[in-house]
Amino acid sequence: MIDLSLTPENRLVQDTVRDFTATEIEPYIRDWDARGEVHLEVFRRMGELGFLGAPIPEEYGGAGMDYVSLGILCEELEAADTSFRVAMSVHVGLNSLTLLHWGTEDQKRRFLVTQARGEKLATFALTEPGVGTDAANLTTTARRDGDGYVLNGSKIWISLADVADHFLVFANVDRAKKHRGITAFIVERGMAGLTTGTIHGKMGIHAGNTGTLFFDDVRVPVDNRLGEEGEGFTIAMSAIDQGRYTVASGAVGLAQACLTASLRYAHERKTFGEEIGRHQLVKQMIAKMGAGIDAGRLLCRQAAYLKNRGLRNTRETSLAKWFCTDHAVQSALDAIQIHGAYGYSNEYPVERYLRNAKAAVIYEGTSQLHTLIQADYLLGYREDKPMRCPPLPASGFQRPESVAVERRPLVSDAPTSSGRPPQPREMSDAGGTRDGISPTRSSASAKTTASRNAQARGSLLK
Ligand SMILES: Cc1cc2nc3c(=O)[nH]c(=O)nc-3n(C[C@H](O)[C@H](O)[C@H](O)COP(=O)(O)OP(=O)(O)OC[C@H]3O[C@@H](n4cnc5c(N)ncnc54)[C@H](O)[C@@H]3O)c2cc1C
Repeated sequence: MIDLSLTPENRLVQDTVRDFTATEIEPYIRDWDARGEVHLEVFRRMGELGFLGAPIPEEYGGAGMDYVSLGILCEELEAADTSFRVAMSVHVGLNSLTLLHWGTEDQKRRFLVTQARGEKLATFALTEPGVGTDAANLTTTARRDGDGYVLNGSKIWISLADVADHFLVFANVDRAKKHRGITAFIVERGMAGLTTGTIHGKMGIHAGNTGTLFFDDVRVPVDNRLGEEGEGFTIAMSAIDQGRYTVASGAVGLAQACLTASLRYAHERKTFGEEIGRHQLVKQMIAKMGAGIDAGRLLCRQAAYLKNRGLRNTRETSLAKWFCTDHAVQSALDAIQIHGAYGYSNEYPVERYLRNAKAAVIYEGTSQLHTLIQADYLLGYREDKPMRCPPLPASGFQRPESVAVERRPLVSDAPTSSGRPPQPREMSDAGGTRDGISPTRSSASAKTTASRNAQARGSLLK
């Protein structure tokens, strides 16, 4: 049974982020958006408040929050402006949580700790000029050369591209192997041959940076490879399970901002001698906005419930992302309608809400892709395959005992920074010592794990 009440910690996070947005974003965002200004000092302040390491355990510099708190942070930040929630998605969801789940102990110490403290900004680079939805067809290449790899190619539409310090980059070590050749690398600003740029002329998210990465013989040490060679596609998909949750939660906040603005205006504006809120067709738009916010928030809490307990949640997170982002776009359209001509100018925030909301039905899986994913689960064409590093529970939570956990160590030749081959204990979560699991298993046992996970998930949600 899911308990929907907020814990004292969840409420503290909500109060803190509301104070933060009220004083440090809302008074300025209209001007920043109009001028297209990115204010890095706001990201630094988010780091000081622990937002940029929200769900990362304290031992790695984070705040050790649960996924409900992470969702609340994203809701409230996006209610103020999407740019700040985007930073939570790429820095926390797509990058830092992925290092936590897939990184070696050495990688966590070198990269995750400074990211969780907000000292370094991080992002996620999958999309290329010719490849978006069809992510298995990446053309950026990584050629093994001695104790490193040489990366060539380019990425586009990368959030924070021109301001981030660390980049989780996906490149193919063998294009003939298609997605089985995709490999993940931690690329650092300053590596020779890496250049970044900013995309100008975006429809929305004007207070956030979106840009390009170019790799011209960029040499990346083997120590910076995340996971195995060829494991990158699986890592990218598990990262996206986290990113989509932050996008879904943010979209609830954006719809809430549309509702708040619409309620205020519906009481202020009069036509035919009464508040426009008294007209039935305005009520219809208001009622639909409110219903979608509640339904969307419940879908997010369902995903958070599974994430807190380290259970697979790809279907539930995709559903939340699809529903909440579509609803945010419709809410923004209706909010403009309720504001009439005034909604069509930046005198009111609702036109910004629409420009921002539209991006979220494109990134982290277009609405079309999520429609297909949901149908494929229902039709039985798609099922969750076991991963070498399954999701980790949030700090203070445990997996249900009925769920088998098998985290397998890296078997590759990646040396650690000490120059020695990796020892299972050094691999921390990836090494499996935390969960006391055996390093190998048959595909039959992997299938059993998947079905036991599904069973546990189903029964817990009843
Ligand atoms: C503001 C912004 C920020 C972004 N940030 C990042 C980031 O930080 N990192 C990153 O890696 N990427 C990022 N992206 C890129 C984003 O993830 C891609 O734009 C997205 O995956 C879609 O790819 P595409 O734009 O190439 O569209 P395409 O894949 O070319 O799709 C075009 C259209 O065809 C439809 N379509 C495609 N395939 C199918 C199919 N099989 N069935 C039905 N319809 C289909 C799509 O739904 C879409 O409507 C960002 C994008 C934006 C707009």
